[in-house]
Amino acid sequence: MSSEPINEDIGDLFAGVEAATTGDANADKLLAPYEGPYQGVPHFDEMNLDGLKAALEAGMEKSLAEVDAIANNPEPPTFANTIIALEKTGDELGRVFTYWGIWSSNMSSPEFRAIQGEMSPKLSEFQSKINQNDKLFQRVKTVYESDVMGDLRPDQQRLVWLTYDGFASNGATLDGAEKMRYAEINKRLATLHTDFANNVLADEEGYVTYINADQLGGLPESFIKAAAAAAESRERAGEYAITNTRSSMDPFLTYSDERDLRETVWRTYYSRGDNGDQHDNNAIIAEILQLRDERVKLLGYENYAAWRLQNRMAKTPDRALDLMEAVWPAATARVAEEVAEMQAIVDAEGGDFEIAPWDYRYYMEKVRQDKYDLDSDEVKQYLQLDKLRDAMFFVAGELFNFNFTPINDGSVPVWHEDVKVWEVTDKTSGKHIGVWYLDPFARPGKSSGAWATGYRSHDTLDGVEKSVLSSNNSNFIKGAPGEPVLISWDDATTYFHEFGHALHALSSNVDYPTLNSGVRDYTEFQSQLLERWLPTDQVIDNYLVHHETGEPIPDALVAKIKAASTFNQGFSTTEYLASALVDMRYHMSDPTGIDPDSFERETLAELGMPDEIVMRHRSPHFGHIFSGEGYSAGYYGYMWADVLTADAAEAFAEAPGGFYDKDVAKSLVDNLFRVRNSIDPADAYLKFRGREARIEALMRDRGFPLPDTDSSEN
Ligand SMILES: [Zn+2]
Repeated sequence: MSSEPINEDIGDLFAGVEAATTGDANADKLLAPYEGPYQGVPHFDEMNLDGLKAALEAGMEKSLAEVDAIANNPEPPTFANTIIALEKTGDELGRVFTYWGIWSSNMSSPEFRAIQGEMSPKLSEFQSKINQNDKLFQRVKTVYESDVMGDLRPDQQRLVWLTYDGFASNGATLDGAEKMRYAEINKRLATLHTDFANNVLADEEGYVTYINADQLGGLPESFIKAAAAAAESRERAGEYAITNTRSSMDPFLTYSDERDLRETVWRTYYSRGDNGDQHDNNAIIAEILQLRDERVKLLGYENYAAWRLQNRMAKTPDRALDLMEAVWPAATARVAEEVAEMQAIVDAEGGDFEIAPWDYRYYMEKVRQDKYDLDSDEVKQYLQLDKLRDAMFFVAGELFNFNFTPINDGSVPVWHEDVKVWEVTDKTSGKHIGVWYLDPFARPGKSSGAWATGYRSHDTLDGVEKSVLSSNNSNFIKGAPGEPVLISWDDATTYFHEFGHALHALSSNVDYPTLNSGVRDYTEFQSQLLERWLPTDQVIDNYLVHHETGEPIPDALVAKIKAASTFNQGFSTTEYLASALVDMRYHMSDPTGIDPDSFERETLAELGMPDEIVMRHRSPHFGHIFSGEGYSAGYYGYMWADVLTADAAEAFAEAPGGFYDKDVAKSLVDNLFRVRNSIDPADAYLKFRGREARIEALMRDRGFPLPDTDSSEN
């Protein structure tokens, strides 16, 4: 954050640490410094899985030796010899993980997964060795509690705090029997989280609904084909398999005319992990909640949620609850309206029944076709993949002053011929910023969905600004040579979303690696915000053009897309919020003797959950919060980030230059992108907006009436 790159000298602290080499050429390649242009780039063209295990082991050994050198330093602890020194550990292992990421997400194989299974426990053991290194923690603690803190810059103070907190909130402050109990709980939780996930998977694979040719009414051709193939692969050729996953359940419930079958498929899906058999998750949930509670009590917290949220933007469970409870009444009121509209259709058709949960998607689709008359195929004709990428570059140029130049000379190695690379520079000064990798197309072994990642982050630890290596990945279907790839509006939105993550990484100006880290209820803000530039006039007129005629997408079609965006918000907001509220209540309650089944039922009854909807994720298959701790007491984070997104978007909408207003753009980039985690996100937002984010913009986005509060007057 200094204007000049820093050069943090830690002397010869690591002089005694041996270099990480194995004698195995494949492993050494994965450990070796990057070579070539732009301060070096990964050797993606020379990665060989045969070297992975040895490289991981050598990388871990090197990291541990560095950590030991810091912990055993006879000099008294200082910011440089402890905090900065820690920032400088683990380079080799970090490089191995770059290749690991490619093997795990872009180029997976049974061979890789076997290594992953073998190495995961070893990697977790490695992490524990560092977290539980008491000598190391005592040094960190000394710096954190010393007067030196007052002399440090704010970003340096935050680095010290993040480092200290990383240890303290993971049990380092404990000793003796408590410390042992803490580790025991973690070990048991790791097993329970895995068991939970495996049980859900078993029920997804184990319960399949088979139907025959007379039961296909209403289903789209593509769905029928996939269901036939799914049955054939299960040795039930001639039948149709409705598998027990969201991607199968959702379209079936949306389109199938067979009400009884809709009920069967619905019940099967929402009973995952709740069938009273060997894959039932209820007892596991109860044990997880009790162990989590016991663990945070050791650290002196009132409950798990309080511990979890202390370093989130929301800070306290009550603030997260306040947000959810403010939106909840509007969402459930909208459900009542949606149900009334659907019931009118049922009644007009002479159906003698009331809308049940398995009818919701089906009748919503009828309302949608009726009301919005939006032909998704017509929209696609204006959404060409290449043009959308050019549109993203245009937006990055306007907001970030970035220029993207294709690198076609082969100087930057890639892992597959479809992967393309661009150099990112400052438009005015020409200064190099980083390299952007794009892996756009689906192929076997590649994870589904879309994601952003990086292979090197910005810092200035060695006295130079690091060149950022950032990447976007998606699963578009490759077109015939020379044909444009046409995508849906949702996919175009996701394309912009992931590019928002990339811009967040590329714009970083922090001095220390740790200050690039994310905050769970804040990390989706930057990416969600970038989605808002897709429907701007500049993008529409120049990039959303018909692939044959070159005509921009008609205003009327854009208006339809915008109108349809508030559709079905009663359903989607309510099913989401029900899960988020139950998650938070679980982690704020005393879990002694808890019965998850009745807890869930009673909590929903207390909230006034509409009968026609269930939680998006019912407890026995709520993997976000029980397959690990990534989103436990954190599922609210999606909405938290969305409040910021909606509110920040209105700052642009209100500005003289709209979404391309130079002053607002500069403030956005300076205050909310470049600083990454070097400043508390709440303070950063305050700097940008001059006030805290308010929920009114989110309510407007979702088409909900504004809550009756003073702030809505503004
Ligand atoms: Zn994202």
